[in-house]
Amino acid sequence: MKYLSTRGHCAQSEFCDILLGGLAPDGGLYLPERYPRIGRAELDAWRGLSYAGLAFEILSRFIGDIPAGDLREICERTYTAEVYRHARAGDDPEQIAPLHWLEPGRLGLLALSNGPTLAFKDMAMQLLGNLFEYTLEKRGETINILGATSGDTGSAAEYAMRGKARIKVFMLSPHGKMSAFQRAQMYSLTDGNIFNIAVTGMFDEAQDIVKAISNDAPFKARHRIGAVNSINWARIAAQIVYYFKGYFAATENSDEQVAFCVPSGNFGNICAGHIARQMGLPIARLILATNENDVLDEFFRTGVYRPRKAAETHVTSSPSMDISKASNFERFVYDLAGRDPEKVAGLWAEIDAGRAFDLSRTPCFARLPEFGFASGSSSHADRLATIREAHERYGVTIDPHTADGLKLALRHASGLPADAPLLVLETAQAAKFADTIREALGREPTIPAGLQGLEALPQRVDVMAPDAGAIKAYIAQKA
Ligand SMILES: *Cc1c(COP(=O)(O)O)cnc(C)c1O
Repeated sequence: MKYLSTRGHCAQSEFCDILLGGLAPDGGLYLPERYPRIGRAELDAWRGLSYAGLAFEILSRFIGDIPAGDLREICERTYTAEVYRHARAGDDPEQIAPLHWLEPGRLGLLALSNGPTLAFKDMAMQLLGNLFEYTLEKRGETINILGATSGDTGSAAEYAMRGKARIKVFMLSPHGKMSAFQRAQMYSLTDGNIFNIAVTGMFDEAQDIVKAISNDAPFKARHRIGAVNSINWARIAAQIVYYFKGYFAATENSDEQVAFCVPSGNFGNICAGHIARQMGLPIARLILATNENDVLDEFFRTGVYRPRKAAETHVTSSPSMDISKASNFERFVYDLAGRDPEKVAGLWAEIDAGRAFDLSRTPCFARLPEFGFASGSSSHADRLATIREAHERYGVTIDPHTADGLKLALRHASGLPADAPLLVLETAQAAKFADTIREALGREPTIPAGLQGLEALPQRVDVMAPDAGAIKAYIAQKA
């Protein structure tokens, strides 16, 4: 499978060539030159596979430059009940992404947050860690991963890369701004290849430092700086797998349809759902759920894509969805625009200049219904009410991001074609967001077995001013 850029740069790259990089040279995002079509016979054959077996079948359609035996071994080592062990009582950890019915046959939670950091980012990041290790070993190279996190991405990256010989991780976080549990997750790691830097400033300042360092080409080349941010294609590819897994868990035969509701921020998770649908998975509806930061909901309702300024971005109780610009959205618009790179380059020239675009009166937007999307947004009050409702009606405690999803799922449930079961993607566990759970339910969330003592462990973090020069010097010394 060859990869190309949404803005037309035709690199003829293979999977491993784009694995360690970020944007394409023309500023676009990489996509496969076509989506593999999965027919009825394959769906029937895949129904009985383990998660690792399914991951191998799907990923091998996208990866032409890793021998099948090696790829299968990587999938089997990644998707184990040992790694994804924090399943809800009654759910089977062997399923990796177990389906937890709330209303049998009608409404369920697809549990994607059973990995080491209790958020769905582990589903892709654990695979990425093993793919990086494999590729660097083959090429005799090393990498220094630099990133900024406001919570979930940093810890998922660190738990995926910890202890790996050819990889070091430099992760910037805003000093004192993450939840106590999130801080403990990252800062309690003692592996010698993990460097936590708490920047005395806001997340945006940490992010700006990462951008400044990444724009310094000589520094970047000298210190082999890499990234694992959400535009990474391999992360999207890994996420396609659980849409198939959820489909098989919710249906008995491959004529049936399923709908998914996806709490969204950077459009990474739901982009994988869109691709699964393009591959032929019978998905009746993809419901995109946002919080108060509703830039994506606005697009699907009106055709206007208007990224917000940082100052217009709300700080909410579902913080991993507090985005003002959805970094993966360009991939969807590329498909919506009939895979026309010139059109995409034109639209993003507007976005990169700080403006908006409006597709409402274009043939492109007229095609939108073909893609099966619906959308909506919710508020802090909605999240609290939904967390309470899930607890009272279904006996489950859900996190605030999943609550954004369940809220929208309940709103859209009646309009679904063919009584398709509706699966809400559970993107984090409640234990990570104790403040909101306390506010909604008046008690502490349950901490999964084995993680109870986390906040009491010694923490290791270097506190630094938001100064790119000083942070460069730190990296140069440790890399
Ligand atoms: C990252 C994240 C999201 C948003 O996912 P996108 O791929 O950015 O749309 C939602 N919920 C949680 C808990 C997350 O960590």
